[in-house]
Amino acid sequence: MRQVGHFIVDGVGAPSGRKHQIWNPSTGEIQAEVTLGDAALLDRAVATAKAVQPEWAATNPQKRARVMFRFKELIEANMQELAELLSSEHGKVIDDAKGDVQRGLEVIEFACGIPHVLKGEYTQGAGPGIDVYSTRQPLGIGAGITPFNFPAMIPMWMFGMAIAAGNAFILKPSERDPSVPVRLAELFVEAGAPEGLLQVIHGDKEMVDAILDHADISAVSFVGSSDIAHYVYKRGVDNGKRVQAMGGAKNHGIVMPDADLDQVVNDLAGAAFGSAGERCMALPVVVPVGEDTAEKLKAKLIPAINALRIGVSNDPDAHYGPVVTPEHKARVEQWITTAEEEGGDIVVDGRGFSLQGHEKGFFIGPTLIDNVTPQMSSYQEEIFGPVLQIVRAKDFEEAVRLPSDHQYGNGVAIFTRNGHAAREFASRVNVGMVGINVPIPVPVAYHSFGGWKRSGFGDTDQYGMEGLKFWTKVKKITQRWPDGSPDGGNAFVIPTMG
Ligand code: NAD
Repeated sequence: MRQVGHFIVDGVGAPSGRKHQIWNPSTGEIQAEVTLGDAALLDRAVATAKAVQPEWAATNPQKRARVMFRFKELIEANMQELAELLSSEHGKVIDDAKGDVQRGLEVIEFACGIPHVLKGEYTQGAGPGIDVYSTRQPLGIGAGITPFNFPAMIPMWMFGMAIAAGNAFILKPSERDPSVPVRLAELFVEAGAPEGLLQVIHGDKEMVDAILDHADISAVSFVGSSDIAHYVYKRGVDNGKRVQAMGGAKNHGIVMPDADLDQVVNDLAGAAFGSAGERCMALPVVVPVGEDTAEKLKAKLIPAINALRIGVSNDPDAHYGPVVTPEHKARVEQWITTAEEEGGDIVVDGRGFSLQGHEKGFFIGPTLIDNVTPQMSSYQEEIFGPVLQIVRAKDFEEAVRLPSDHQYGNGVAIFTRNGHAAREFASRVNVGMVGINVPIPVPVAYHSFGGWKRSGFGDTDQYGMEGLKFWTKVKKITQRWPDGSPDGGNAFVIPTMG
């Protein structure tokens, strides 16, 4: 059995710990085991991080950027291998796995520009003979706790920014698909990073708690489900850490009567069913405005959904592959049953789907549920599977209200040809990321990513300038160099610029 170990410098002789089994979701077989760590193991990793971080922070930013440049080249050179490994543990198809790596790589590209974004601010002559400047300094040791669904992209969102800014980083990836994060850390050392700057430790709640309680970890970035995000946020903040914690989602796609329905159906098929719906920026709820739009859309969606091809993750013709674990498959199918019991109309039913030759794989057929209402628990909660729910809105106002009132506020999209409606929607909707005729509005690497409400706890987004802000603290320096003559001011009064 292949073993996935921690990627730490001081691992020799560490107790072996509990094990977690890693599935191959396409075959339904266990393919590897990962060792789960504990607080003692974390102590070792932190001690190493503490030893290497000061020198890294003192390395000039251009040299730090050069490591990022070489890392980028290495990821590109290893793209196929990374994508195959990722897809074998996650279940997403290879091209989609490449997208997962590529979107993380784009944050590394942004991090290559770290000297520019770290320049700081300077005011000459803020007072008589006085200059004020502010500069961003690293926090020390940062940690990242990441979900299973983007095992390459999300770690790179975090450590790309944190390390370029001068921090050491400890990554605790999902125990369900931990191999790619380890491979990334190996490539990072090959790129010239000092050993111990990026370490990967595996674990579950026990390790997460150890991270949240560790006095030498200054900041924690978390991405995962909302209840755990909220827990991580509270416990981390209680311990005096800086915490950002991104949670679950239920993104809506509003379809206005004037939308190009063929384009919408094409966009929805990919956004609802791609990666078997296991994306926090998937579009699992479609909101047609008006009965006529709803009927036309449904008529076009049914054949498009029936034409979807489900396959093993390395089938080049498959639109999507299996879900991640048997428990997750059971959970998604249970949600479909719940939706049915709550009065939803199961228009296309993906339960009980079996892929010929791969009957043990964790496949779920695409599912379409109509007449879903805001009162239903299957609407309120995240399903995270290949399930598209139709919630019919009578008018534009109701369409703005639905995503705005939902507990999650990650992403939302509107499909329309009417610029005024789109503008109005974008400005009023209470959701963090908005797509206008763009079904999955994940902002590019030099903007930033983050949802609202229960999709994001904390006040900074991931990557871009927001990421830089999260991983650094601002030092403000006020200086004067007196020429020796007394200035005669009253030192007992608070200095003002009056
Ligand atoms: P998860 O919450 O189960 O796990 C996330 C991380 O938390 C993992 O590293 C896991 O080991 C750890 N963890 C699990 N149980 C824990 C516990 N009881 N206490 C402390 N830590 C624990 O999430 P997942 O199933 O891996 O990922 C899917 C979820 O992530 C979905 O809800 C999805 O919407 C969300 N997600 C959100 C974003 C975003 O940016 N908002 C992006 C991707 C995924």
